[in-house]
Amino acid sequence: METGLVFNRHGGVIAWHVPEDRSAGFLPDSPTLWQILWANRVELGGFAHTHPGEGIASPSTTDVTTFAAIELALGKRLVWPILTFAETVYTEWVGPSALAYTVGYKSQAGFELPHELLAKLRDLSR
Ligand SMILES: [Zn+2]
Repeated sequence: METGLVFNRHGGVIAWHVPEDRSAGFLPDSPTLWQILWANRVELGGFAHTHPGEGIASPSTTDVTTFAAIELALGKRLVWPILTFAETVYTEWVGPSALAYTVGYKSQAGFELPHELLAKLRDLSR
């Protein structure tokens, strides 16, 4: 089951996102999640989510278009970690085009989520 985490610029927890209608394939559109992102937009660092499975982590097309829409609405860029059970990658806009996102094992600024939060995201996804 996909699980999400809203985190601040220092990698601290703002909110866990574990909706009742989540599935293995996607996180449903969530007014509640949007309200949390908006209410915390000043301190917001990003949103992590899981792709339950053992494979390579990478954003889907839906992920990237969602990231771009949220950043446009918030007026700021975020870090978007994606986790499988095997690895963690950090997705970020690099531009110049609207959907030009890059993927790395750390954020562009060297940011990584604390290990215990990565472990909890995976535990909640099993
Ligand atoms: Zn995804």
